[in-house]
Amino acid sequence: MDSPANTLGSAIGIFGGTFDPVHYGHLRAALEAREILKLEDFRLLPAGTPPHRTSTVASAAHRLAMLRLAVSSHPGFRVDDREVRRGGNSYMVDTLREIREEAGDSPLLLMIGQDAANALDSWHQWREICGLAHLVIMLRPESEMSWSPELRKEIQWRLVHDSQQLKQKPAGCVFSLEVTQLAISSTGIRNQLTSGRSPRFLLPDEVIDYIEQNQLYFAGAARKG
Ligand code: ATP
Repeated sequence: MDSPANTLGSAIGIFGGTFDPVHYGHLRAALEAREILKLEDFRLLPAGTPPHRTSTVASAAHRLAMLRLAVSSHPGFRVDDREVRRGGNSYMVDTLREIREEAGDSPLLLMIGQDAANALDSWHQWREICGLAHLVIMLRPESEMSWSPELRKEIQWRLVHDSQQLKQKPAGCVFSLEVTQLAISSTGIRNQLTSGRSPRFLLPDEVIDYIEQNQLYFAGAARKG
């Protein structure tokens, strides 16, 4: 898969998540990653049924709708709904295989937060991931690097310090990216809503309106829709 950079297609950024709901921590990190790494094609990819989580609270259709609302006025982002359309368990490795088929030898850059990177070895066929995409680990507040020895062995030799290297081959490198630290989490937002507190300024107003209209996350409303 190593071909000279000038023959590769343009790089594609992929930011997967449950987005339950999407918030400014995700959006700010996505925007900074897209700008710093100069990615024309940047996709936010909501998980259908994430197998590594015991459950999501809002349905895949609601999570997708909220994400679409959040980025509707930001042309730099594309929402890739393939996992939601596919249904069933979503494995990132299958998603990357599919995107790789479509993208030929274009570099694929999979963005993940530090917390997600720490648990990478719990993902289905995780060793395949680095063969399909580069990993961009976004440093996330209150999350420190804690890799199992096996994961460290797989990742450490792949680390690169110059983001240009991510454009020079289709996959296989690991890069850490410092993004503005916003200590916002979907869990925190859901907890605030459940306890009747306002999540205003933690996520876009359009998403808050959607949550209210659809009575998502309020006490007694979990799993509705
Ligand atoms: P939950 O609290 O439900 O676990 P979350 O806020 O961590 O949700 P996810 O949808 O699970 O959000 O995260 C998707 C991706 O975004 C993950 O790689 C995660 O590390 C990253 N991420 C989430 N919140 C932030 C944040 N505040 N700053 C940077 N990255 C983040």
